Amino acid sequence: MITRFAPSPTGPLHLGHAYAALVAHDMARAAGGAFLLRIEDIDRARSKPEWEAQIYDDLRWLGISWDGEVMRQSDRLPAYRATLEKLWADGLLYACHCTRRDIEAAVTAPQEGAPLGPDGIIYPGTCRLKGAPKPGEPLPKAALRLRMDLAACTCSFEETGPAHRGTHPITPAQMTNTVGDVVLARREMGTSYHLAVVLDDAAQGITHVTRGEDLFEATQIHVTLQQLLGLPVPIYHHHGLIRDDQGKRLAKRDDARALSKYRAEGASPADIRRLVGL
Ligand code: GLU
Repeated sequence: MITRFAPSPTGPLHLGHAYAALVAHDMARAAGGAFLLRIEDIDRARSKPEWEAQIYDDLRWLGISWDGEVMRQSDRLPAYRATLEKLWADGLLYACHCTRRDIEAAVTAPQEGAPLGPDGIIYPGTCRLKGAPKPGEPLPKAALRLRMDLAACTCSFEETGPAHRGTHPITPAQMTNTVGDVVLARREMGTSYHLAVVLDDAAQGITHVTRGEDLFEATQIHVTLQQLLGLPVPIYHHHGLIRDDQGKRLAKRDDARALSKYRAEGASPADIRRLVGL
């Protein structure tokens, strides 16, 4: 078993991150497996070295040790690019120049509630033909969307988390109707979360992806990409989210729940485990 914790260094780790890290760590250790760390720092504008340093410090304090070298997404841009170039050459991507406002304007009667997928409004396909690759055209510097009508396949994944335990079938109709042409590369990033997470989980040999329930709906995208790229499909385990007193899930800006704050107030790692229900 190989699990991972994949935080973004865009703010302090809070109780929700501690829970996610402990779940992945404990699961691997209980099985005699490996626990890996990955820094998801593709958002160069928001990622900061001081937050990355704080992640290492907080994890060590929690008693979490990771195996092998830390993977950093900012070192992986050539790998993302190589995959995008192949998908582009295979006619599976197209360049999209739509703004969020263009997309809202293009969907019929947005005031009645535009159809939403895991990535927001399901893309109406405006650029699908005009952004298609011309023969021999190099990868353009633009947002790149996946032709879901060509990419989706019939497949499934196994989920072991409490809320969705079982086998989850995926069909091409489901992917085109309820997910649509997802962005695989943002113009300014050279990748997207979906592409990076799939390539990185495969490169790190992750066998069990543990993460928060908020990412459950994204899993069908990840499994579709794994099938398309010939990558192994890990087992997924989506765990519950740690919520504040009002029942809202914790966000990076909830500094009040930052681990560093609990540490400063004298909490022990055992206190943190108790607070998150472990
Ligand atoms: N970097 C993501 C986060 O901090 C985690 C992504 C994942 O586990 O797939 O929420």
